[in-house]
Amino acid sequence: MDYQGQIEQAAALIKKSTGFYSLTGAGLSTESGIPDFRTPGEGIWEKFDPIETSSVEVLQNNPRVFYESAFNRFASITLAEPNPGHYALARMEEMGFLKGLVTQNIDGLHVKAGSRKIWEVHGHLRSGYCQGCKKRYSFEELVHQVELKRIPPVCRTCFDVLRPDVVLFGDPMPPIFYEAEEILRANCDLMLAAGSSLVVYPVAYLPRLAGQLIIINSSPTEYDQVAEVVIREKCGKALHDLAGQLAADQ
Ligand code: NAD
Repeated sequence: MDYQGQIEQAAALIKKSTGFYSLTGAGLSTESGIPDFRTPGEGIWEKFDPIETSSVEVLQNNPRVFYESAFNRFASITLAEPNPGHYALARMEEMGFLKGLVTQNIDGLHVKAGSRKIWEVHGHLRSGYCQGCKKRYSFEELVHQVELKRIPPVCRTCFDVLRPDVVLFGDPMPPIFYEAEEILRANCDLMLAAGSSLVVYPVAYLPRLAGQLIIINSSPTEYDQVAEVVIREKCGKALHDLAGQLAADQ
């Protein structure tokens, strides 16, 4: 089937669905200039092992290393802007098709694009907290202290080290993940997985909860065999065309 046929087939499935949700990954944000983990030649894993800098172990045992490497990458991500893929998903929700989206991304670009029902299951870069007394801070406060060379940034009350609200390697999954899992289990008859290699567990298990699956990804995934439609195209173009097809059919 050609590309246009795939877009039409995906739109037809979405129109028939009563519980249409999306699962997004780092590939959705590469067109916003944020490198993903696994694109050959460009992914972060090819440059360094994120576990060596973005883990709870590093944050606790060597916070300076965490703040001088992983944290700088996080801070640069906050400058990114949504791309046509993010806007298309927000439009699908606005048109009443998309019931919500689960994202592995920490970049906050779905929020910036105007999506409303979002489960950011790996956290986000809008806030942080003290590891000791749990007092809450804005992400800007962490950035501000780092810019002033207060590394690691510390709590103004108990002087313990601050951390961003993201799920690091070694962290347990947050309650919002289990909330998303329950919602999908109860309601999702169709899932659109976009820009994810679908290998990072436990999120990679979520497509199993969907009745049917549409995949948009530039490289193969282990779920391709069981998906109704697999679109091997950039997320920005494919999601834009899919939202356009849904609008035209309305
Ligand atoms: P991943 O890197 O494992 O997979 C990304 C997939 O997207 C790859 O299969 C790649 O071929 C595909 N891809 C890349 N650009 C694309 C594009 N423009 N259009 C279509 N497909 C494209 O990412 P993942 O599955 O999300 O898992 C990685 C983990 O890394 C997640 O847990 C996430 O929290 C974290 N992460 C997040 C960000 C972010 O917030 N933007 C960035 C890097 C990593």
